[in-house]
Amino acid sequence: MNLKDSPVTQHCFHGQRFYLKRDDLLHGHFNGNKARKFYSLLTEPAPKVTRLIGWGSAQANSLTALAALACVKGWKLTFYVDHKPHWLDKKPIGNYRTALELGAEIISLTELLGKEAPHPQDYIEATHGQDPECLIVPEGGRSTIAKPGIDLLAAEILDWARLNNEGKPLKVALPSGTGTTALFLAQTLQPNGIEVLTCPCVGGKEYLKTQFRQLGQFDHTPTILELDYKHHFGKLYPADYEIWTELQQQTHIEFDLLYDPMMWQCLLEWQSHHPDHTLLYIHQGGLLGNESMVARYERDLGARVLGC
Ligand SMILES: *Cc1c(COP(=O)(O)O)cnc(C)c1O
Repeated sequence: MNLKDSPVTQHCFHGQRFYLKRDDLLHGHFNGNKARKFYSLLTEPAPKVTRLIGWGSAQANSLTALAALACVKGWKLTFYVDHKPHWLDKKPIGNYRTALELGAEIISLTELLGKEAPHPQDYIEATHGQDPECLIVPEGGRSTIAKPGIDLLAAEILDWARLNNEGKPLKVALPSGTGTTALFLAQTLQPNGIEVLTCPCVGGKEYLKTQFRQLGQFDHTPTILELDYKHHFGKLYPADYEIWTELQQQTHIEFDLLYDPMMWQCLLEWQSHHPDHTLLYIHQGGLLGNESMVARYERDLGARVLGC
């Protein structure tokens, strides 16, 4: 399984040239952001382990990545969710369906224990914490286990930058959830003169800074770009759908609908004040999640969205 050297392609958006690091193409269902973060689980020997334990949302990208990882390693995956929407069980789509197909066991704690169910993290610690056969993965890979895979991504970027020097400052852009990826990238890239630009898709700028601090003490942190309005994670915004459609039309690449639209809105604004640079955008995968997002946009924004 070769999880290295994802290709870089060249595109144009709103009249600006940019390069795209195609981590969405890393490998089958083990791709994108979560493949980089779980890379160390793939490569480091863990002879006692027979089961991965994860938790998060029933539509999380990490669910598919962990299910694929478990398949490759010959492990089982048990993934805990706080609750599972009824319609999803009746008609599984996206990450949820793919994880089921890959053999994942997905357990809703609300279904199992009722409304008073503990937080998945506490439940897992109490139930599996002492079991040497279980490997517990923090939600979304927000952990130092993510570092080896992100270091490898940074090394690939440095190699690419050496061969593709255009004499302008190189900026690397990627949207943040927990901020783990942007932070670990900045640690390697910024000492090499490459600024990392990101935006906080979950919570605001202060939330993201807190996340950075919780991951440890760092000299180099990414530059955080923001929109001039409050943007809620997972909520539907016509402007998001519009820029996502434009991206598809102008680059012929499908971007993700949860994170990328906010980053590109921030970037277009930022680029209007920072004309002279080379931009490398990281495509972090997440395309399975689009299936449910597109369905939601078409349902909830129907006339408004389809009219444009
Ligand atoms: C998880 C994820 C992110 C966020 O990564 P963080 O390291 O948590 O900031 C961004 N994009 C996609 C597609 C993801 O799956």
